[in-house]
Amino acid sequence: MTHNRTDLLDLRADLVSRVHKFGPVLAEGAAQGERERRLPDATVRAIDESQVSRVWTARSYGGLEADVRTMSEVAKALSHHCPSTSWVVNNINGSNLLAAKFPLAARDEVFGADPGAKLASVFAATGTAVRADGGFLLTGSWPYATGILHDDWVILVAREVDAAGEPVGGLSLLVPAADLTIEDTWHTVGMRATGSHTVVLRDTFVPAHRVIPAEVQRGRENATDTTLPPLLRTAAIAAMGVVCASVVVGIGQAALAHVVDKAPGRGIAPSKYTSQPGSQTFVSALGGTALTLDAADLHVTRAAGVIDEAAHAAAGLPENELRRIRGDVGQAVNLVTVALDELMWAHGAAAFAESNPLQQYWRDANTAARHALLNPRVGRELYGGAFFGLDLVVPSL
Ligand code: FAD
Repeated sequence: MTHNRTDLLDLRADLVSRVHKFGPVLAEGAAQGERERRLPDATVRAIDESQVSRVWTARSYGGLEADVRTMSEVAKALSHHCPSTSWVVNNINGSNLLAAKFPLAARDEVFGADPGAKLASVFAATGTAVRADGGFLLTGSWPYATGILHDDWVILVAREVDAAGEPVGGLSLLVPAADLTIEDTWHTVGMRATGSHTVVLRDTFVPAHRVIPAEVQRGRENATDTTLPPLLRTAAIAAMGVVCASVVVGIGQAALAHVVDKAPGRGIAPSKYTSQPGSQTFVSALGGTALTLDAADLHVTRAAGVIDEAAHAAAGLPENELRRIRGDVGQAVNLVTVALDELMWAHGAAAFAESNPLQQYWRDANTAARHALLNPRVGRELYGGAFFGLDLVVPSL
């Protein structure tokens, strides 16, 4: 049974309130996560127990099967407590949604025994697959596998090659995390606790039921299938972009809240002001920044709404809408990075103290904003090109 709209609103409110209840556990572990470049065990337990990693898992497997707007709100709420956790949870849900495109036998294998199964996914086709009896032998190295230290499965993209090494086509393959070697490559200044390391495979057998053509993975044939619940008709790549951007918007909102909270207790040393809100320069900077962040939020909320409406109506989304969504998410993260710079100025030099959460928000948001789905320049090119029917500059939307 699918959710009706009232159920969905209740579920959304309930999930956000759950996040704020266990949020202090994430906040407490944030420094450890930065140091160890992985989420602390207590954080992973909180994710599992609260079921926020099941927001985009089908109800038939014990998932919550909520919509894009719900996942967007959950991501924003998580970012207030720990941006890396928010990023990992967003990647798990996005990858779980991608898994819905695999045959029933594969989905049963992943979610049948464990409704809370957590997936990672890497889009770049940096491996090769060779046909073998009953499946494929997969070899390669895939960087940027967010969450892989805590996940159970990963979806990898590879080029199929024949025995002579000639290219045949693109494949999407579902692989248990137990089969992988993880190379410790995630040494970054932002989103450090996401453990987005490199995964490596060498001649690993992947049975045929866990392999689909890359065009099927990216394709939108499910968009108008009325036998599916709305979640499984959702434009998955666009939805992932919106939720990645929501993580960044949530970081901006958390940073604003911090600056506002601290302002009354902070003077402005070389001036007549005993407290920051006494300064019109400060107040107007905050007003402008809050409006910039509101605009970012409006972009992701609009995009989420457009995707959800199409999924509910089993209408599919035209390419120009999908292009605008890429524009929306790029614009949103760009606005957040601009707003964060302004907040760092407004708060003052203390923003760069290691103990100050603002510098972490700034590093995390700037790192996440560089994700390929969020690139504002690419989003603008895609959206602008839609007015002239220009070819896509990315393989999928
Ligand atoms: P690129 O994105 O290749 O960009 C290099 C330059 O090319 C830039 O100037 C850019 O503006 C330009 N450019 C980029 N795309 C285009 C285009 N289509 N047309 C024209 N110009 C373009 N990937 C995953 O698959 N799975 C993950 O779990 C994952 N986790 C990530 C986590 C974080 C925190 C980050 C930052 C990235 C993650 N990525 C993940 C990787 C991401 O999706 C890209 O693959 C990665 O950012 C590529 O980085 P790059 O440095 O090669 O830059």
